[in-house]
Amino acid sequence: MNEYEIIIVGAGPAGSAAAIRLANRAPQLAARALVLDKAIFPRQKLCGGGVTQHAWDLLRELNVTLDVPAYPIHHMRLVYDDLETTFHWRNLFRVVQRAEFDSALLQQAQARGVQVQQGVGVREIARDDAGVTLHTDAGEFRARVVIGADGANSVVRQQLGLVRSDRISRLIEILTPVQDAACTPEFANHTAVFDFTPVARGVQGYYWDFPSYRNGAPVMNRGLFDSRVRADRARAALKPVLADELRKRGLEIGAWRLEGHPERWFDPSEQHSVPRVVLAGDAAGTEPWLGEGISHALDFGIRAADYVIDSVARDDFSFADYARTIAQSRLGQRLRLKRFIAHCVYGKRGEWFYRGGWRMLQVGLMFLRRT
Ligand SMILES: Cc1cc2nc3c(=O)[nH]c(=O)nc-3n(C[C@H](O)[C@H](O)[C@H](O)COP(=O)(O)OP(=O)(O)OC[C@H]3O[C@@H](n4cnc5c(N)ncnc54)[C@H](O)[C@@H]3O)c2cc1C
Repeated sequence: MNEYEIIIVGAGPAGSAAAIRLANRAPQLAARALVLDKAIFPRQKLCGGGVTQHAWDLLRELNVTLDVPAYPIHHMRLVYDDLETTFHWRNLFRVVQRAEFDSALLQQAQARGVQVQQGVGVREIARDDAGVTLHTDAGEFRARVVIGADGANSVVRQQLGLVRSDRISRLIEILTPVQDAACTPEFANHTAVFDFTPVARGVQGYYWDFPSYRNGAPVMNRGLFDSRVRADRARAALKPVLADELRKRGLEIGAWRLEGHPERWFDPSEQHSVPRVVLAGDAAGTEPWLGEGISHALDFGIRAADYVIDSVARDDFSFADYARTIAQSRLGQRLRLKRFIAHCVYGKRGEWFYRGGWRMLQVGLMFLRRT
């Protein structure tokens, strides 16, 4: 059997950040750690690819420089029906291709001495007093500790019996080619669009347009995010809403490949660990306001690694206070704040609320511009 001190399941931003943190802080542990992923990198990951400044700051904290193309966004156009306002901030976020970004991050973990096995999917997990056995496509692996960073549909989470279906956001996305980037305002001005008009149709989220480049060619990443932060309300039919938003922009939905993927949002009152196993990144959850998950996944990976390093040092594998530790951290505060904003923004239904809120937002932005 393949035996390790720590196994990280999933090599997305959360898993790679955990591996890099281990290597930076506890090289002796990292030398006996393994990252497993069912995919072969570079692998596609459905995502808008918007990487916020906070995420780049976290990479700096990890001493990581990623040499990948990243299209800078300096303007954010906020839309609600006929109301529109633009927020200007240099390098508000940068749009990457996830295949390139995740692959470069994983290489950084490998370069620091963490072993990686790709194309190995975890199917089942068995725990005992001494450790955890992972049953995979490539046989059994055993570790004293497992970090489950295997995304929103986490098999680790399912195997621990910790799944809740009322914390799931829905996202659908298409990529459309752009004929002439210079004549497309989003490219000419480095502008991302967040259009909240769909809330009037029961979507608890927004439509987005993110300009970016794939293999050197300009493409627009377009999609619809439905946070479902109010799970008690009826589900909106997302495809017709996206079809209408696209039609407004002169596009037919049937002409492009439509894909969807869930996101889990973080609730500190849920269980995110059992003895010897912690969850990180989308497997634990992200925020339900904008559905921004890359920075939180990096942050989660760092914190999961810190928690495990400290637990190994104390020889305590109960992991009982993991959710509380996360909730009290800066990451937990951010996730809580964004969940609160999501409840405020998507929890109300009246037209008056959005129009009134829009005026307040415009006044706020005007004030910010003057100061
Ligand atoms: C349509 C869409 C658009 C989005 N747009 C943005 C955006 O613009 N900006 C942003 O910040 N966030 C965005 N997000 C969220 C973001 O993609 C996620 O929050 C982020 O990828 C989470 O990282 P992670 O490492 O936790 O999980 P993932 O990136 O999902 O990585 C999980 C890894 O685990 C592996 N894995 C899964 N199951 C197994 C298994 N059984 N065994 C072994 N390995 C396994 C997978 O192959 C994968 O490599 C978007 C999400 C969606 C769905």
